[in-house]
Amino acid sequence: MSAPRLASTLPTNPDVIVIGAGAAGIAATKRLRKEGLSVIALEAGARVGGRAWTDRDAFGVPVDMGCSWLSGLDRNSVGKIARKRGFSLVSHTHAETDLFRGGARATAQDHADYAKAAKAIAKAMNRAGRKGLDVPARDVVPAGLPWAGAVQAWLGPMDYGVEFDGISTLEDWNGSSDQPSAFVGEGLGSVVAREAKGLPIRLNAAVTGIDWSGEGVRVETAEGTLRARACIVTVSTGVLAAGGLRFTPDLSAERMEAIHAVPMGLLMKVPMLFDGARLGLGENNWVTYWVPDELPMRACYFIAWPCGADYLFGNIGGALGWELSREKPEAAVDFALEELVKLVGSDARKRFVKGVRTDWANDPFVRGAYSCVRPGHAGVRETLGAPLADRVFFAGEACSPDYPALVNGAWDSGRRAARRVAKTLAGAGG
Ligand SMILES: Cc1cc2nc3c(=O)[nH]c(=O)nc-3n(C[C@H](O)[C@H](O)[C@H](O)COP(=O)(O)OP(=O)(O)OC[C@H]3O[C@@H](n4cnc5c(N)ncnc54)[C@H](O)[C@@H]3O)c2cc1C
Repeated sequence: MSAPRLASTLPTNPDVIVIGAGAAGIAATKRLRKEGLSVIALEAGARVGGRAWTDRDAFGVPVDMGCSWLSGLDRNSVGKIARKRGFSLVSHTHAETDLFRGGARATAQDHADYAKAAKAIAKAMNRAGRKGLDVPARDVVPAGLPWAGAVQAWLGPMDYGVEFDGISTLEDWNGSSDQPSAFVGEGLGSVVAREAKGLPIRLNAAVTGIDWSGEGVRVETAEGTLRARACIVTVSTGVLAAGGLRFTPDLSAERMEAIHAVPMGLLMKVPMLFDGARLGLGENNWVTYWVPDELPMRACYFIAWPCGADYLFGNIGGALGWELSREKPEAAVDFALEELVKLVGSDARKRFVKGVRTDWANDPFVRGAYSCVRPGHAGVRETLGAPLADRVFFAGEACSPDYPALVNGAWDSGRRAARRVAKTLAGAGG
């Protein structure tokens, strides 16, 4: 699937400027047009989609470098779009686990212990969340579970993108169920990019500042200043925390505190192409192994042959992800391959064709993978989503109260912000 054809003429003095054309920006732009408002989206990068990105160049087949998993499919807005547009959804709801310990297949007892640890940790976290306790998940892990390390490695670095002591029990409790789930054969990034077709989006147009001191907003780019009645900011908390957008007047101390309370976690993906060998791993299976219950966790777990493709995804997150992001790309690929060889033997090295790693940590327009609320700050996402003076609005996964960190949360937040803008401008006599 080629890049979507965008609108060829762009409004010069739009009602609304959307900053960023990821899932939230695309959803907001579409909705604003439906509301009858003129709009332009300014995107710093050379493509649409942001963290929803299906690459076809690395392996010659679709590979999702950002989001790939549609979770909570029954209520997932992006899943609904994928279905409506005829994309192929490949169920991942009952995926099995290839489990290893000490370089050998896990025994039946190991499987039972792993399941027991997963259940006990989920139960302890839920109990804390239900009581309103906003503490690090690590604090409630029951003692004496031999597979506690593996469960925390998946949930911490590879799911939330942080070590297990960086997860808030209350924030986790407020989250929703992730099943049923599915991959998209053509790539989840393709679903999001497809929605940009015909939209007024300008690429390679980084916004440097937003002046909201007078009437309306003045949005500054390297090529000049655009004026509008309102804008919607969809950039990540990583970009906001790094001062990637200059606000005039400055953002309040309370809002800056909120931004820093929802920093970016990191999941680095390491897609690895093989020559068709399956290495004894089942298609779409989780591949997990025993690790000690110590922080920071050094592990790379895999998803094998998603949608039947000839590559598997290595997943490296949290502290190790940031560490490897400071090194050459080969370091992450070597680490992932070595971990795989320990599990399935040297055949993995012989049948390996090539590997790449994602670089969200070093992308100045993202700076991480997705947001994660620090323990002690549950509920702070509401502050992030609150508008400034009825003319600067915020959207993006970090502002999503119900599906934070997820592509559908980003999508819904964009639509919500657009509706809010339309209502506000209508009320102001527009
Ligand atoms: C490795 C990885 C795995 C993931 N896995 C999943 C998954 O399986 N399932 C799931 O649901 N979600 C997953 N996610 C999360 C999901 O991809 C994101 O939550 C979602 O795509 C975020 O969309 P957004 O619009 O909020 O932000 P973004 O996609 O970051 O969009 C913001 C846009 O703003 C642009 N921008 C930044 N600064 C400026 C500027 N100054 N001027 C103009 N433009 C600017 C950026 O280039 C970007 O395109 C994953 C993410 C990553 C990175």
